[in-house]
Amino acid sequence: MKKGLLIVLSGPSGVGKGTVLKEFIQDSELNLSYSVSMTTRSQRPGEIEGVNYYFVDRERFAQAIENGELLEYAEFVGNFYGTPLKEVERLRNQGKNVLLEIEVEGCKQVCEKCPDAITIFIVPPSMEELERRIRGRKTEPEEIVQRRLSKAEKEMNLIGNYKYIVCNEDPKLAGEICSLVIKRNM
Ligand code: 5GP
Repeated sequence: MKKGLLIVLSGPSGVGKGTVLKEFIQDSELNLSYSVSMTTRSQRPGEIEGVNYYFVDRERFAQAIENGELLEYAEFVGNFYGTPLKEVERLRNQGKNVLLEIEVEGCKQVCEKCPDAITIFIVPPSMEELERRIRGRKTEPEEIVQRRLSKAEKEMNLIGNYKYIVCNEDPKLAGEICSLVIKRNM
C-alpha cells in the first residue's frame, strides 16, 4: 500500500487555520486523518481531550521529548505543543493522508525530517484583520493577545519556508484551494 502523505497546515496564530481546515477535512476524496497534538496549554471551554488536544503537564511533555515520542515540538506563548510521531506513522502506513495544524517553528522541523511534506501557509488578508481575529477570540487576557500579535509578525517572515501560500479572506475558498493542493499531490 502507498504510504499516506504528510500535510502541514501552518500560519500565524489567529489566522483561522482551524476554520479553513474544517472546510476540507471531511472531504472523503482526500482520505485525511487529523493528527491530535500534545500540549501543556490549559483546556479552553468546548475543547475535548483527545479530539482537540492531549492536555498534559510539563513533566509529561518533557518525558515525551526525552523518549523521542514527538515528530516536532515548539514553545508557543509560554506553552509547549508537539506532534505524537507514532500515531502519524501508524496512520500514514495505513495509507491515510495525515494533516498537522501547527505553528511555524514546528513546520521547520517537519521539513527537515520529512522533505516530502506538503506545507501550506495560511496568510491573513492584512495584519489589521489578523489583530481583529485574535482579539475576536475573547478568551485570553490582553498580555497574551499582545504576545500572540508580536509573535504573528515574526511568524509571517517565515513564509518562504512553505510550498504553498493560501490567503484566508474567505475560509470556504481557502479550504477549496487547500483541497485542490492536496488532490494535486495525491
Ligand atoms: P492554540 O493555543 O491557539 O490552540 O495553538 C497555538 C498555536 O500552536 C497555533 O498556531 C497552533 O497551530 C499551534 N500548534 C498546535 N498544535 C501544535 C503542535 O503539535 N506543534 C506545533 N509546533 N504547533 C502546534
